[in-house]
Amino acid sequence: MIPLSLEHIAVATGGRLLDADPEHVADSLVVDSRQIRPGAIFAALPGERVDGARFVTQVVREGAAVVLVPREHPDSASWAEQKVPRIEVADVQTALGHVARAVRLRSRAQVVGVTGSSGKTSTKDMLAAVLSPHRRTVANEKSFNNEVGLPLTLSRISSDTQIAVLEMGTAGAGQIAELCDIALPDVGVVTIVGMSHFEQFGNSQDAIAVEKSALVRALPPEGLAVLNADDERVLAMRLQVACRVLTYGVHNEDADVRATGVRLDADGRPSFTLHLPEGTAPVDLPATGEHMVVNALAAAAVATGLGLTVTEIAQGLASFTLSPGRMQTSERADGVRVIDDSYNANPVSVEAGLRALVASRREGGRAVVVLGEMADLADLADEAHRAIGRLAASLGVDLFVAVGARPELAAAAAREAGLEHTLVLDKPQEVAAALAPLLEPADVVLLKGSRSAGLEVAAQALAGTT
Ligand code: ATP
Ligand code: MG
Repeated sequence: MIPLSLEHIAVATGGRLLDADPEHVADSLVVDSRQIRPGAIFAALPGERVDGARFVTQVVREGAAVVLVPREHPDSASWAEQKVPRIEVADVQTALGHVARAVRLRSRAQVVGVTGSSGKTSTKDMLAAVLSPHRRTVANEKSFNNEVGLPLTLSRISSDTQIAVLEMGTAGAGQIAELCDIALPDVGVVTIVGMSHFEQFGNSQDAIAVEKSALVRALPPEGLAVLNADDERVLAMRLQVACRVLTYGVHNEDADVRATGVRLDADGRPSFTLHLPEGTAPVDLPATGEHMVVNALAAAAVATGLGLTVTEIAQGLASFTLSPGRMQTSERADGVRVIDDSYNANPVSVEAGLRALVASRREGGRAVVVLGEMADLADLADEAHRAIGRLAASLGVDLFVAVGARPELAAAAAREAGLEHTLVLDKPQEVAAALAPLLEPADVVLLKGSRSAGLEVAAQALAGTT
């Protein structure tokens, strides 16, 4: 972290510094008491299970430079008595963002924000792989993309950091704007808003588009907006920006950054020719499924906008590794291939996963999908699951395994649409045993469901890694 004086932190958070030397300096930001280091700022967040305030005296003993605490807390008197170096703030979570923004304002790094309904982490990981050999880069871990994860990532910026790549997620209206108010992005990427063939479900996607477009509206005039030209709602956002725009797409021939000759090899790994405004290069992508090509184009568009050459970009794309649970392929000794995409699922990503599955079906083998519930779909949930069942049937999936009640609706719809072989299970723990007698060499099995469906258990058991 770029060091900040305690006075600076108090001013940035609008808080009151007590029992501490204003000229003391803090050089890291922590919300987990177990990660405390000498010189750290500890933000005592009111957690869901434990109140961070419980650890205040402990972290100070362990060397924390200062703690951010709520103004009116039952322990306030005791902290005063013990002369705990602290900054009292109205809201600790807001203050966390304010500290992160103070770091960001002190840094010369260019900040890249990545938002969208799917593909944020994949795009972020690819971009970090492309940039890291050439620029001192900080990127968020995993999917740390909310009002806690984003400030913590920004706090990792040091004085020599050149680029920070930040995934921005949203769980409600106004959140992207709030994250932008902290991160002050120079470059904004919007991956996807639409839900492809789920378009018929009302106009809620227009509301999602307004939410995600907050990122590009936050960009300064000298910034760069990177927009997916294959998604009409994302492309339309170019009307909302004052800065330079680069578009990317596989299907839209007018896009600035394109892929041609997209092919999937026998393992479902894409290769293509990358077209940038300044040149072309062949790319072999170590990922599974055509949808990863679009994410690679997003990363390439940012990298070209930041001045990397087409050769550097192509080499970087070839070297990245996907985070766990995203189309992770393993080969079993008996010849069955397991694709673990259990990390998350929504209608767009399940469609992409099913297409990748059938594209990677092998000679003499079958395409098998194990579907867990797609969470957070509210009123659309039942129909969205049925639609996935119909899609699986129309794509020619050979065996459809449903885990849980909603996926059972998908299996029923698949059967109605002509998919002959379906199986319904209650729990992910049952998958491996139920499939054991059914699987044959050369079969490819895709496991896909929301995190809450817990399919990683089944993926590990199937792949034989437990
Ligand atoms: P989260 O909101 O959970 O952080 P995310 O936006 O970071 O998700 P990823 O982790 O990159 O997205 O991918 C999530 C799922 O979406 C994976 O199953 C992945 O295969 C799929 N996916 C990734 N990119 C695309 C895309 N461009 N189109 C459709 N599906 C995609
Ligand atoms: Mg993510």
